[in-house]
Amino acid sequence: MMNFGDKLQDHVFSTVAAVCHELNVKIYVIGGFVRDLLLDRTSKDVDFVVVGSGITVAKKIAGAFGHGVHASYFKNFGTAMIRVGGWDLEFVGARRESYRRNSRKPIVEDGSFSDDQRRRDFTINAMSLSLQAKDYGQLYDPFNGLEDLKNKLIRTPLDPDITFSDDPLRMMRAIRFATQLDFSIEVNTFNAIKRNKNRITIVSPERITDELNKIILSDKPSRGFKILDETGLLAIIFPKFTELKGVEIINGQAHKDNFYHTLQVLDNLAEKSDNLWLRWAALLHDIAKPVTKRYEKGIGWTFHAHEFIGAKMVPGIFRQMKLPMNDRMRYVQNLVQLHLRPIALAQEIVTDSAIRRLLYEAGDDVDDLMQLCEADITSKNDAKVRQYLMNFQKVREKLKEVEEKDRIRNWQPPVSGEVIMETFGIKPSKLVGIIKTVIREAILDGKIKNNFEEAYRFMLEEGKKQGLTVKKIVENPEGKLN
Ligand code: ATP
Repeated sequence: MMNFGDKLQDHVFSTVAAVCHELNVKIYVIGGFVRDLLLDRTSKDVDFVVVGSGITVAKKIAGAFGHGVHASYFKNFGTAMIRVGGWDLEFVGARRESYRRNSRKPIVEDGSFSDDQRRRDFTINAMSLSLQAKDYGQLYDPFNGLEDLKNKLIRTPLDPDITFSDDPLRMMRAIRFATQLDFSIEVNTFNAIKRNKNRITIVSPERITDELNKIILSDKPSRGFKILDETGLLAIIFPKFTELKGVEIINGQAHKDNFYHTLQVLDNLAEKSDNLWLRWAALLHDIAKPVTKRYEKGIGWTFHAHEFIGAKMVPGIFRQMKLPMNDRMRYVQNLVQLHLRPIALAQEIVTDSAIRRLLYEAGDDVDDLMQLCEADITSKNDAKVRQYLMNFQKVREKLKEVEEKDRIRNWQPPVSGEVIMETFGIKPSKLVGIIKTVIREAILDGKIKNNFEEAYRFMLEEGKKQGLTVKKIVENPEGKLN
């Protein structure tokens, strides 16, 4: 019998144990906390299983923690939560679950402690530690989770076909844990995912995406995507992404496999940034390559305008996956659209105007864009990689230099629509927009300086060209010379 009482010395556990002792109620720590504890990973999210009512016990425990600590409960689920000193404690009564064919929602009944262990998704998530005085810290591990933990295996406690058919979200969870922990999925469990993959369609897109995001946020997301692909789940939950797979050869010329390339980009980026949305941009940067792919005689493989078409595909993908349709989506879209620009800048002799244009279009996202582009270098040739990185370093320096000089990020042209309307005595119209654009372009191209006086003079000429007459000369509304 293994005992881990020494790892449950925090007063949180002794308080919980003391209250339950007094109430004569059996209580165990179970699930992810135990798994992580045995992996020497620290966590402050703890699940407790109570043989009895989780809610009643939690109320008493909150009282024992003292002033200001409350249990919040969810009657429908029979669970209660206590937040105390940075800990998130969740209490649930031991239960037995049975499933119907067309729903993930189980029929729940009170059950024994071992019923509760049997309803858990994986052997490593079913391990429990006792908080009873007589065996404090003892491991209850009916499905040999400890062995699987040592062998780095994800395995269901019961028949995997039943486990996955009952609640198909567990297939995503299996792959998510395998990715996060760098474990393998035991072969029977793996084959059961293949057999039950179509059941995933009864799970809501939000829940699938939650798990997918956890895979994307792991240290090496490609691991998860490869398993998702091998099991056939990826083609169901994210078909556009599987379309990136494969290599075609014409006249002995092959293009790269954009599926593995994209995963490499995502892994590269994951080493540098935890930003979920930047990682999504990496995932989607080449998403339009399959639809834009052409073989052109004398040129080879081309993917013309894949960055623009890819950006256009982003909202549809976000909508389908129930990702937020807000500024995060627009951020991903912007990065997909701009992802080739720094490469172009690194190859040419860079003009200030090209740099200003990129600063203007990328705004605050310019640093993330550079990270994405650096991650996009997946050549196996070290000398080439070094050369590309050096080129990007030059682009970064140039971006900094031009930004310091011209302050283009999040910039508004110095002459506003109001000034244009007042000067020429015109109403809001398309013409105002045209003049504004011409001024902006002239500044970005470096034809005129980024200040009110030059822009205003340029505007007067442009108005004349458009057949407008000056009604009033407007002073710089800022009241100061730029
Ligand atoms: P993490 O906090 O990293 O997501 P976790 O294991 O704590 O890991 P939770 O989703 O918080 O994951 O679930 C807590 C525990 O509840 C799990 O360890 C598992 O025992 C059980 N569990 C959660 N979801 C399911 C499910 N769909 N089917 C069966 N058991 C589940």
